Amino acid sequence: MNSLSIKGQVFNKTDEGFDKAILATLFNKLEPNRRPEMMVVPETVDDIIDTVRYAKAQGRKLSVCSGGHSWSANHLRNGSILINMKRFNKYEVNKEAMTATAGPAVGGSVLLTELVKHDLFFPAGHCKGVCIGGYLLQGGFAWNGRKLGMACESVMGLDIVTADGELIHASATENADLYWAARGSGGGFFGVVVRFHLRLYKLPPYRGMVSHVFTMKHLEHVFRWAYEVGPSVPKAVEFQMLMSRHTLNYFAPGIEAVAPIFADSKDELNEAMAFMKNSPIKRKAYFRTPYVPFSMETMYNFAMSHYPDDHHWGVDNMWTGASIDDLMPFLRDIAATLPPPPTHLLWLNWQPPVRTTEMAFSMEDKIYIALYGAWKSSKDTPQYGNWATNHIKRMEHLCTGIQLADEGLHKRPARFVSDAHLQKLDEIRAKRDGLGVFNEWHSRPQV
Ligand SMILES: Cc1cc2nc3c(=O)[nH]c(=O)nc-3n(C[C@H](O)[C@H](O)[C@H](O)COP(=O)(O)OP(=O)(O)OC[C@H]3O[C@@H](n4cnc5c(N)ncnc54)[C@H](O)[C@@H]3O)c2cc1C
Repeated sequence: MNSLSIKGQVFNKTDEGFDKAILATLFNKLEPNRRPEMMVVPETVDDIIDTVRYAKAQGRKLSVCSGGHSWSANHLRNGSILINMKRFNKYEVNKEAMTATAGPAVGGSVLLTELVKHDLFFPAGHCKGVCIGGYLLQGGFAWNGRKLGMACESVMGLDIVTADGELIHASATENADLYWAARGSGGGFFGVVVRFHLRLYKLPPYRGMVSHVFTMKHLEHVFRWAYEVGPSVPKAVEFQMLMSRHTLNYFAPGIEAVAPIFADSKDELNEAMAFMKNSPIKRKAYFRTPYVPFSMETMYNFAMSHYPDDHHWGVDNMWTGASIDDLMPFLRDIAATLPPPPTHLLWLNWQPPVRTTEMAFSMEDKIYIALYGAWKSSKDTPQYGNWATNHIKRMEHLCTGIQLADEGLHKRPARFVSDAHLQKLDEIRAKRDGLGVFNEWHSRPQV
C-alpha cells in the first residue's frame, strides 16, 4: 500500500495547519516536542483497518488517541501515524439489560450524565473531557470506584482492530488474551479499541459530600489523622485530600479533606460519614460542611475546579504503603514549594481490596499521592515544569509503583504493573503485534 485513501481525514506533516491539528488533540498545553508524520481521523472501522495495513506497509509505528487527556501526550510520537478516534463518540444504553456500548471517544461524564437520567450508573472518572478510551485501558479510578472496583472491571468486552488489521471481539471467552491486556495496559495497548461493551449499575440514591478545610499550619495533624483513619473508611467513601496554595479556589494555603459518598441506603450513608462527623481534628477546620447532597453535575464542577483547561501541566504520582513518619517530611517539603493554583497535591485513601478479576491492572497500594503542577504561561515552564517529577523522585524509596492514569513516564520510568503482568503483556504483545507496529509506554520500569 503506497497511499492511504479513506472516508475520514488524513493530515500529512507537510500540510498547512498540521501542527495546529496535532496540538488540538491535547488537554495538556505543555509543548511535548514530539510530532507524528501523519494523523488519520477515521470515519469507519474500515478506515482503521486500512490505516493499520498502510502503517505496516510503510514500516511506520502507530499511536492512538481518543480524548487526548494523557498528561504525557502519550499519543504524540515522532515518525508515527496517529489514529485520532474522535469520531467514535456514539453510545447506546440498554436499560433493561443494564448494559451499554460506547465508542472510545465518549466522555465518561457524558455517558454518566445520560445514565443518571435513567437511574443508572457507570464508574466514570471524575472530570469532564476525559474519554473512556484511555480511561478504561489504564484501569479507571471512578466515582464510587472503591465500591464498584476499577472501571475496567465493568468492561464485558471490546471490539478491537488488531495489529494484523482485523476486527475482533475480545471478552472472557473470545480472544481472552486481548481482553486481559486491554484492562490495565493503558498507553501500552497494542490494538485500536473501536467499541466498549459495558456493565451498568443502579444509581445509588444518596450522592453527596462532606468537607473539612484546614489552613497549612495544621498539615501535620491533618495527614496523621487521614493516615490513621484511612483503613477504616467505608468503601462508599472516596476519602481524599487536596493540598494547594488556595483552598476552595480562593482562601488560604491549606488542605481540603473531602469525602464524596455514594450510598445505597440511609444506614450506609450514616456509616459512611461517621468518620468525618467524629473526626478529632474537625474543630481545627476553618470551613466545614455536613453531608450535602450533590447532583453529578455539582460533583463534576467540584472536581473540574481543580483541573481547569488551558494550562500547562507537569504531573507525577506514586502508590505508597510507607509510614506517616516517613512520608511527613516530604509532605512538608511539597507544601513549602507548591507553585500557584491550580497546582495541588492529591492524597487518595485507597486501601485496595483483594481483587479476583483476571486483568493486566495490578498496581495499587494503601495510599495514592499525585502531584499536579500547573501554570498558565509557557514562560513559567522552566520554573514549574519538573516540580512534580522532582518531588516524587525524592520519594522513590517510599514508592511501590504508579498509576498509569497520571503517568509521567516520558520523564521518569516507574513500575506501573506487577513484574509478572509486565512479562505476560510482553508475551501477548509478541503474539499479537510481533512486528511492534504499536508504540508502547514512553518508558519501562528499571529492573
Ligand atoms: C483533567 C483530568 C482528569 C482525570 N481524571 C481521572 C480520573 O478521575 N480517573 C482516572 O482513572 N483517570 C483520570 N485521568 C487520567 C485519564 O484517565 C487518562 O489520561 C486517560 O488516558 C485519558 O483518556 P483519553 O482517551 O481522554 O486520553 P488519550 O490521551 O486519548 O489516551 C491515552 C492513551 O490511551 C491509549 N488509547 C486511547 N484511546 C485508545 C483506543 N481507542 N485504542 C487504543 N488505545 C487507545 C493511547 O495509548 C493513548 O495515548 C484524568 C486526566 C485528566 C487530564
